[in-house]
Amino acid sequence: MTAEPLMRVRLRVEQDVFVVRQLGREVARAVGLESQDQTRVATALSEVGRVLLAAGRHADVTFTVEPIGVPTLHVAMVHPVTGEAARLTGQLQHVGRLVDTMEVDDGETGTIVRMARRLPLGAPRLTPDRMDEIREGLARHVPGTPLDELAVQNQQLIAALDEVRAQRDDLARLNAELEETNRGVMALYNQLSEELEETNRGVVALYAELDEKSAQLGAASEAKSRFLANVSHELRAPVTAIIGLGRLLTDSGSDDLTVEQRRQVDLIRGSATDLLTLVNDLLDLAKAEAGRIEPNWSDVDLRAVFGQLRGTLRPLATRPGVDFTVDEPGVPTLRSDEVLLAQVLRNLLTNAIKFTEAGSVRLSVRRVGDDAEFVVTDTGTGIPQELQERIFEEFYQVPGSKPVSGKGTGLGLPYARRLAGILGGALRVDSTPGEGSTFTLRLPVAS
Ligand code: ADP
Repeated sequence: MTAEPLMRVRLRVEQDVFVVRQLGREVARAVGLESQDQTRVATALSEVGRVLLAAGRHADVTFTVEPIGVPTLHVAMVHPVTGEAARLTGQLQHVGRLVDTMEVDDGETGTIVRMARRLPLGAPRLTPDRMDEIREGLARHVPGTPLDELAVQNQQLIAALDEVRAQRDDLARLNAELEETNRGVMALYNQLSEELEETNRGVVALYAELDEKSAQLGAASEAKSRFLANVSHELRAPVTAIIGLGRLLTDSGSDDLTVEQRRQVDLIRGSATDLLTLVNDLLDLAKAEAGRIEPNWSDVDLRAVFGQLRGTLRPLATRPGVDFTVDEPGVPTLRSDEVLLAQVLRNLLTNAIKFTEAGSVRLSVRRVGDDAEFVVTDTGTGIPQELQERIFEEFYQVPGSKPVSGKGTGLGLPYARRLAGILGGALRVDSTPGEGSTFTLRLPVAS
C-alpha cells in the first residue's frame, strides 16, 4: 500500500528549480531528517529538476513518506517525455550519491526518477495526525525568491566548509595519535622481541642441559644393568656351590652330623637358596633392562600354557580356604613368546597366592578388540592406591605386607612389566585394600 503523498508540485520554468529545492529542504526537515541530510535532499532535487527541465517541458514532483518498516522519504519526479531513462541515468549519476537509492525508469506517462532517503532512527514517529500537520505546513509554505535561496545556500556552504575544517582538524589529531601509538607499539614490539630472544636462548640452553642429563641417565642405567648382570653372574657359581656342599654334608653317605650341626647346615642351605633366587631374579631383570631378551615369536596355544600353569601352581595353592582356578582360555592362540608369557602369568599368580588368605585366585583371558586381556584376580590383602605404581619399582614391597606364605625379592613385578613391554603390551593393577587385587596384562593377539 502506498501512503498518501505529502505534497505534489510541478516544475515549469527554471525558477521553479529554486522552489523545489526549498520545498525539498522543508519536507526533509518536517519528516525528521538531520540538517546535512536536508541539504542533500534539497541539492538532489534541484539537480534532478534542472536536468529534467532542460530535457523537456515540465516535471511533476511527488513527496511521500513510507512510515511502515524503516521510515523512508520517497521523491518521484516524472518528466513527460518517454524513452529518456538511459540518457538521464548517465546525466544523473552523481546525484545518486546524495540519497540512499535512485532509479530512473521509462514509465507509460514519461520518464520517472525515483529517490529515497531513510529517516534516522531517532526521528519522531510519523502518525497520520503528524502527516496531516506536515501537509498543512507545506501547503502554507510561501517559496522565497531565488536570492533568498542563494543566501540559504551560502549559509549551508559556510556550514559545510566549517564542518570540513573540523573534520580535517580531527583527522590531523587522529593521525598524530596514531603516530604516537605506532611508536609505542614499535617500542613494545622491540622489547617483546628481545625478551623472546632471551627466553629462546634460555630454552635452548635448558634443552641442551636436558639432553646431557638424559644421556647421563641412560649411561648410568646401562652401567647399573651391566653391574647387576655381572655381579649376579659372578655370584651364581659360588652360591650354587654352597648349596651343593650343604647337600653333600647332609647326605646319608656323609659322616653323621650332630643335630645342631644339621640344623645349622640346613640354615646355610636355606639362605643360599634364597640368595640364588635373588641372584637369578636380578640377572633376569638386568637382562630385560639391557634389552638382551629377544622374544621367540610363535603361535602360542593358550590351552597348553594355562594347563601347565594350573598343574605347576596348584601345589602352591594349598590353603583350604582359597579356591584356585585357571579358566578355559577365551582366546585360543596368540602370537607371542610362550616362555616369557608363562613367566609373567606365573609371577602374577604366585603373588596372588602369596597374598591371599581366603577366598579365590583366578586366571582368565578374553579378547578385547585386537588384544588379549589376561586377568589375574585375587581376594587378598590388596594394595593401597598410592602404592599401586611403586610396586613396579625394583625391590619395592608394600610396607607391613607379609606374604601369607613364601618369600619375595621385590623384583617379580618390575620384571613382569618389562616382559609385558617386550611382548608389545602393558601390565596394570587395580586394587582395594582388604578386598583384593586385579592385575591385567594386555597383549596384541597378532604381534
Ligand atoms: P615380591 O617378590 O615381594 O612379591 P613383587 O615385585 O612381585 O615382589 O611385588 C612387590 C610387592 O607388591 C609385594 O611385596 C607386595 O607388597 C605387593 N603385591 C604384589 N602382588 C600383590 C597381590 N596380588 N596382593 C597384594 N599385594 C601384592
